[in-house]
Amino acid sequence: LIKVQGLSKFYDKFQALKEITLDVPKGRKVVICGPSGSGKSTLIRCINGLEKFQDGLIRVGDNELTSSGRGVDKVRRRVGMVFQHFNLFPHLSVLDNLTVAPRRIGKVPKAEAEDRAMYYLERVRIADHAHKVPSQLSGGQQQRVAIARALCMEPEAMLFDEPTSALDPEMIGEVLDVITDLAAGGMTMICVTHEMGFARKVADEIVFMDQGAILERRPPEDFFTAPRHPRAKAFLERII
Ligand code: ATP
Ligand code: MG
Repeated sequence: LIKVQGLSKFYDKFQALKEITLDVPKGRKVVICGPSGSGKSTLIRCINGLEKFQDGLIRVGDNELTSSGRGVDKVRRRVGMVFQHFNLFPHLSVLDNLTVAPRRIGKVPKAEAEDRAMYYLERVRIADHAHKVPSQLSGGQQQRVAIARALCMEPEAMLFDEPTSALDPEMIGEVLDVITDLAAGGMTMICVTHEMGFARKVADEIVFMDQGAILERRPPEDFFTAPRHPRAKAFLERII
């Protein structure tokens, strides 16, 4: 479903991504980990068209994203994105946060957009708070709203960039549970996270990045028990 080939990305002269190649078939769950600054966010931002790139190719289904930035709208509709800092619209109610994109971009009629929103709010177990504004919710609740908001566009794949790293520890579980449910439902996903218990349980594949390159790509049971690359070993020793 998602195909990245020979992707290179520069910030001025600094090369943040070095010929990344990654294939994510429909239904696959990929967890990306790696040290700070290794290019994890840059990679998933490129896949969602939030960053331009200089070389290589990104395809989502039959939609191609080119280095010139063409194809962004189509790709973004197919791929939902959830950020570390929720990025909800602060002045809109939870319900309106969920309906604005389907109504404006998807041209979904209001009543249908609201039905859809309530369906996804129930799935993330937050329907009771539909009429509050984000600041009235806890961080964990806000992140679940952000997930529901992405789902309202009915994406074929979801990208998560450290969805729990801004949360207090007691709220991490409720957000990971929602993502785990989504994975169990068959959603294709790429998730950047350092939650290794979650990765072990949910991922089909762990991708380890360092200095803009993918150094390892293996099933979690292999990666966690016997990382091959010395830098992967060092990384795991630090975080586990
Ligand atoms: P973290 O774990 O801290 O989130 P990361 O793996 O997500 O790190 P990126 O945010 O993708 O790393 O950054 C990769 C490299 O690109 C870093 O060296 C960073 O300093 C650089 N970088 C990221 N964004 C920009 C930018 N807008 N301008 C210049 N350099 C950038
Ligand atoms: Mg990052």
